[in-house]
Amino acid sequence: MGEQRVVVAGGGVAGLRVAQQLRAAGWTGYLGVIGAERHLPYNRPPLTKEALWHGVDVEVLKFPMPDAEIDWRLGTRIVSSDLAAKRLTLEGPDGTSEQISFDGLVIATGVGPRRLPLDGPHSWRYTVRTPEDAASLRGRLVDRPRVGVIGGGFVGCEVAAAAATLGCKVTVVEPLSTPLERVAGHAVGAEVQRRHEAHGVRFVLGRTIAAIEGDARGSTGVVLDDGTTLAAEVVVEAVGGVPNTDWLAGQGLNLSDGVLCDRDLHPLAEGGPRRDVVALGDVARFPLDLYGADPLRIEHWQMAGDCAGHAARSLITGLAGAERTDAPFELLPSFWTDQYDTRVQFLGLPSHGIDDVRVLEGDLEDEAVIGYHRQDTLIGLALLGMRRRLLPYRQQLVEGLREACGRGIS
Ligand SMILES: Cc1cc2nc3c(=O)[nH]c(=O)nc-3n(C[C@H](O)[C@H](O)[C@H](O)COP(=O)(O)OP(=O)(O)OC[C@H]3O[C@@H](n4cnc5c(N)ncnc54)[C@H](O)[C@@H]3O)c2cc1C
Repeated sequence: MGEQRVVVAGGGVAGLRVAQQLRAAGWTGYLGVIGAERHLPYNRPPLTKEALWHGVDVEVLKFPMPDAEIDWRLGTRIVSSDLAAKRLTLEGPDGTSEQISFDGLVIATGVGPRRLPLDGPHSWRYTVRTPEDAASLRGRLVDRPRVGVIGGGFVGCEVAAAAATLGCKVTVVEPLSTPLERVAGHAVGAEVQRRHEAHGVRFVLGRTIAAIEGDARGSTGVVLDDGTTLAAEVVVEAVGGVPNTDWLAGQGLNLSDGVLCDRDLHPLAEGGPRRDVVALGDVARFPLDLYGADPLRIEHWQMAGDCAGHAARSLITGLAGAERTDAPFELLPSFWTDQYDTRVQFLGLPSHGIDDVRVLEGDLEDEAVIGYHRQDTLIGLALLGMRRRLLPYRQQLVEGLREACGRGIS
């Protein structure tokens, strides 16, 4: 029998971290990473932050490379898979097709930008997912056009802040009553809106987009669902992500919202978990021990690194046909966003507690710690500034969740 082969699908932060952890956990067989982008793994969050203000240099964003032996197959897309035969079909940078085999597979293909179902060429509509996207948007923003940002979530708000900082006239269109409402609740969303308005950003709330108008040179405006038109030479769609799972179609996995997995990150197939496969990062949906049995898919940068060791050990024990004997996998989601000069940090699941939001410390209009509750239990936190208070509040949150686990908070 030849050398055993583990193939990692996706060369983002999750692919990099799991490859490192596989070597650290003692995987000595072949280890290859297939990445559709032509870059070695780089840090994505700065693309809507400092890179959009100051310029995009992918070399600066790249992670330090591990010494571990890893075969990087970049500019190469996995177009389909046959999990029963343990084979992947690849399309290389020159368009050539190739089949490769694996013994163990890691699914780390992340998400792609969701697009609005609107007529008109995509070239009118910017998204920000890659350095190329950010560079092309920045190339337009420096001419200070009128910018319409569709979607008032984190990415939309960060793009609005960068565009306003570069001197553009920015309007954000959001169907809810404040930006960030879905993830952070109304009060925090209203405060974020106030800070944006202080920088000249305008919000059109409770409205959706009916059409984008334009001509051969690009967009001229967005038409709202009430028929009014907002002039905008640049339109940015920031309406969420779609898991990259096309290449797994027809393989008996549950792909209804990413790859559904058990708590050991093995995808669930008809006959039970596939122990020769793990999934992690934005593409994976799995239960978190601290929050009960409901599987969750969480698009946070931190999750990739926090899951990598667990995923690597699951795959190695799965391939050996052994049972896992290590400690419980207690993962607390965390996320940050920069809104002008304020760092906002989120811990736990604020979006699951937006009906009971309490200011725990400080002043919402300045710096504050905000608690999100469900059934009177603290299940998430937002810190506006107040970076030094993160650790004590994190501990309080985790202890409360451990206590509440038995009561079934989710
Ligand atoms: C603009 C932006 C700003 C963000 N800001 C923050 C932030 O401030 N804080 C935070 O916590 N999170 C932030 N995030 C989210 C964070 O970047 C993600 O959670 C993180 O990148 C997830 O890593 P991943 O490796 O799972 O997926 P990705 O980073 O998406 O990497 C997946 C890789 O797989 C590749 N791939 C996809 N399909 C295939 C295929 N078929 N074959 C081969 N390769 C494939 C993709 O090209 C990609 O390179 C931000 C995201 C974006 C887009």
